[in-house]
Amino acid sequence: MHYNSIDDAINRLKSMIKGKVLDSKLDRYMYASDASMYEIIPSCIVVASCIEDVVNTVRFAYEHGIAVTARGGGTGLVGQAIGDGIIIDLSDMNKVIEVNTHDGYVIVEPGVYKGILDRQLKRYNKCIPVDPSSADYCTIGGMIANNASGSHTVKYGSMIDYVLELDVVLADGSILHARKVSIDEIKDASKDSIEVKIARVLYAMLYDKSNIIKNGFPRVSKNSSGYRLDRVLCSDGIDLAKLFVASEGTLGIVVRAKLKIVDIAKYRALALLAFKDTYDACLYTSKIVANLRPSAVELIDKTVIDIVKMSNGNDSLKQYLDADCMLFVEFDGNSREEVEMQMDKLLNDVKNSAGICKCIAYSYNNDEIARIWDVRKNALAYVMKVRKGNSKALAFIEDPVVSVDKLAELVNGLKEIYKRHGIIAYTIYGHAADGNIHTRPMLDISNEHTTAKINALAEDVFSLVKSMNGSISAEHGDGIARSRFVKMLYPYDIYSLFINIKSILDPKNIMNPGKKIPLEDIRLSSNNGNQYSSYSLTDNLRYLSKDGKDIVLLNWGIRSSRVAERATGYAYELSYKDEVDLCHGCGMCRDLSYKVRMCPVYKGLHTEVASCRGRNNILRWMLKLADASKGSFTPEFTDEYKDIIYKYCIQCKMCLIDCPSNVDVGKIIAEARARYATAHGLPKGYKYFADIDKYANIACKLALLSNALMSNRLFRIMLEYLTGIDARKSIPRFSRIRFDELYSRYRQPMLDKRVAFFADTYIRYINPILGLKIVKILNMNGYRVEYPKQLSSGLPALLEGAIDKGKRIARYNIDNLYSYASDGIPIVTFSPSASLALRMEYLNVIDDEKSRSVAYNTYDIHEFLNMLRKGNELIEFKPVNEDALVHIHCHILVQGYDKDVIGLLRCIPSLKVSLLERGCCGVGGSYSFIKDNYELSMLIGKELFNAVYDGISNGKRIYTTGESCMLQMDEGLRKIVGNNSNNNNIKGDSIGLTVELISRAYGIED
Ligand SMILES: Cc1cc2nc3c(=O)[nH]c(=O)nc-3n(C[C@H](O)[C@H](O)[C@H](O)COP(=O)(O)OP(=O)(O)OC[C@H]3O[C@@H](n4cnc5c(N)ncnc54)[C@H](O)[C@@H]3O)c2cc1C
Ligand code: SF4
Ligand code: SF4
Repeated sequence: MHYNSIDDAINRLKSMIKGKVLDSKLDRYMYASDASMYEIIPSCIVVASCIEDVVNTVRFAYEHGIAVTARGGGTGLVGQAIGDGIIIDLSDMNKVIEVNTHDGYVIVEPGVYKGILDRQLKRYNKCIPVDPSSADYCTIGGMIANNASGSHTVKYGSMIDYVLELDVVLADGSILHARKVSIDEIKDASKDSIEVKIARVLYAMLYDKSNIIKNGFPRVSKNSSGYRLDRVLCSDGIDLAKLFVASEGTLGIVVRAKLKIVDIAKYRALALLAFKDTYDACLYTSKIVANLRPSAVELIDKTVIDIVKMSNGNDSLKQYLDADCMLFVEFDGNSREEVEMQMDKLLNDVKNSAGICKCIAYSYNNDEIARIWDVRKNALAYVMKVRKGNSKALAFIEDPVVSVDKLAELVNGLKEIYKRHGIIAYTIYGHAADGNIHTRPMLDISNEHTTAKINALAEDVFSLVKSMNGSISAEHGDGIARSRFVKMLYPYDIYSLFINIKSILDPKNIMNPGKKIPLEDIRLSSNNGNQYSSYSLTDNLRYLSKDGKDIVLLNWGIRSSRVAERATGYAYELSYKDEVDLCHGCGMCRDLSYKVRMCPVYKGLHTEVASCRGRNNILRWMLKLADASKGSFTPEFTDEYKDIIYKYCIQCKMCLIDCPSNVDVGKIIAEARARYATAHGLPKGYKYFADIDKYANIACKLALLSNALMSNRLFRIMLEYLTGIDARKSIPRFSRIRFDELYSRYRQPMLDKRVAFFADTYIRYINPILGLKIVKILNMNGYRVEYPKQLSSGLPALLEGAIDKGKRIARYNIDNLYSYASDGIPIVTFSPSASLALRMEYLNVIDDEKSRSVAYNTYDIHEFLNMLRKGNELIEFKPVNEDALVHIHCHILVQGYDKDVIGLLRCIPSLKVSLLERGCCGVGGSYSFIKDNYELSMLIGKELFNAVYDGISNGKRIYTTGESCMLQMDEGLRKIVGNNSNNNNIKGDSIGLTVELISRAYGIED
């Protein structure tokens, strides 16, 4: 290096980059892992915004002999997206540049998510039919570099079949337009573009060895091990683009890709076949592939079926799970007859299979097909949910592939190897039609004996695969786990070609070094090359030691609340460390579709720190370093750390239900905040919400004055300066009369049945009239409403770090509600956050008989009324003639009573009800009121606000289920309307509450 210090070098790099250069310790911890079992801390991260950024970074690295590792979604399973040099995060380079339906191609930047591209192509009835399960959160660049594939490879091939041309930044920073170069061009001495020159070298190298290449590559339908020379050398030239497919960023970085697109098949049919034996299922697969033309045949065996059965949330699918092994057989085509004919043949064959298999279900209906497919698609998610002490399902032998006629032999061989090594817990599923099995043993990676077992298993499994002419990786790549075995898989003649190519294109070994070709096999062109990165299967393993006492402020490892048990399927929660360690880095929390709501902050910001994974990774490192330094390590207490734990989590809790491992990142963050605030006090602004009863009481008593002040701009600016409450945030008007007073004046009819009402802040201080309506609704249904002494729920205090205050509030409320709960009197809430507090969050600070009893007896008003409906006890509604679009509060989804809300509303005559699913509104309770959070909160809700606007423009009435969402959606709508002069008829304050709708359906007036 020519710099005095690493800081000088990084400052120089920063001056060259238009995107971002991240070099803080916390950023580097965050990027130290992907979805694999490894972790390596990089020197810095460049979040590239344009091709120039990539070129400049690579040039800089080349000059100084620093390693460069490209990264897309970071969903690689075997460590290929991590390294010790510079990580180039390409996920901001995500434009779809051209869709050309006429010539059948699309041109994209590398960071575009496959799921997003799919949705754009669907508008033209086109697709790239390569469908990894991670499609919604992995990038095209990563898919090319891994030669990703999916369930439909048997008919449609893998990524290599769709790559037409690529722009690639090579190790010296030059840009190669990688395309097919014809023999004529190669032989034409006057042609001297980079691509022709490289093609010429490759042609000279490969042509003589064409037979060796033909015979030495695995005989499989998909392969992502080594370099794909079998597809580079063509009869009419050199296909340079194919050289970079499956190369894992070791030869260059793809900055633009031209990909083939095809028509989406019009018709599909899916059959689910049950087998008693996996061996039979494999043999049967081979028969289906030989005799029919399936678009997919996928397998899950008993090891996965049992896990799926155990998982919650799949009740509707349990009917399909009555088997020891299942095949999902799909046919597609452009005519219904074609698909039906194939399906009939299959069903006929199954009927005559002499009991080997039976058909559990088959369908031509796209919705049902999608639902059944979910079982298979989420297989890995189910597997990663399993909690067995310190053991985890590890990926290192997870992707072997053989020709389909050898699949049964492969599965038997695998089972024998597991048996020989004394492994009884493992999983088997995969793309059967391609002879590609995904298998993971459950091992305790922190146990010192495990490394020997991992090495021995890998040796045995890879030898077996080689003996069967298969490949050690079909679609996941070599990464850290398998790069040392590439040499074993290929004949030396071919492996030496790999070395030559790597040495020519990357003479300094800076492009993702250590992957594909280990350092000892590389021929460095000079001493100024990267001589350090060299990995073995069991180095750099990622685990969190569970030794040492965990000093925690929240309750961990307790009996699960009903909410948590429903979400996770487990009766007991994990310890803090185990919970943090549960995240396996899959990256699903970076999903930008609205199939899942997690993580709203990521959906708004699109940065790693905004994902659950990013924050969780940082917290794992905090624990690790604190352990290693015996507690003396305290980077926790920096402003950067404070921002990470306060700014990037809105406590929506969606990770608890949407994360495949159900990692409760919200609770992990609440613990981190409690630790931070205990040492430093609450950050500015937060303390007012922790003490909301005190301030709201005063504001109500002086309502005229407080409302006038709150709408005065100058006062708000002053307030912002003094308190940290953002001056731009609308604050609802305080009521002159509090609910407590209104309730005491109201005369209820004499009724036998009783409920206790828990009102919370909005009803107590802002909208007591709504509280009275709820009382009347309950009265009409025969319930007298008691109103116990209470404070607001205290959720802000509990989730934002004011742990002692939160505990005192929880204690007060539990003590006052317990006498009702212990008599079996239902406690009814209106605010979804209040029910979450009573049912789950209180247990995180007070776990005793009283808190459990209160938690058990709490019901949200919708849920309670729907319970009455199910018992035929609900008084009938009057018609409401409206077209309602209903948004559901995140805390309702977490508690799982969204179906109650919709079920109840659908009973209102004349009311048309549809769901508005466009993610979270971004309010996060008190979050959006805090200065610095306001803009982010509006950004998080942007998609929803737009959908609200569209809904209203199309004549719908918009309703939501919680007061904070309502206020935030109104605010978002006001912003759109304010920006849009054409829409005088749409106003802010247009969002209703579902409870108001119910009260209208009962004829209850204001
Ligand atoms: C839950 C889950 C399910 C999965 N299911 C499948 C599946 O069904 N099929 C399948 O094939 N895979 C699957 N995978 C593996 C992985 O998601 C895919 O291989 C995916 O294509 C990787 O994309 P990525 O953007 O996350 O790449 P990353 O993990 O970020 O990177 C992968 C490799 O590509 C390189 N790279 C990234 N971008 C570029 C670029 N622009 N230029 C050059 N190199 C680059 C990286 O250096 C790295 O070597 C799954 C993973 C998970 C976690
Ligand atoms: S938090 Fe969950 S979804 Fe996100 S990476 Fe971790 S395991 Fe995957
Ligand atoms: S609670 Fe919500 S915002 Fe926080 S990490 Fe989970 S999904 Fe993201």
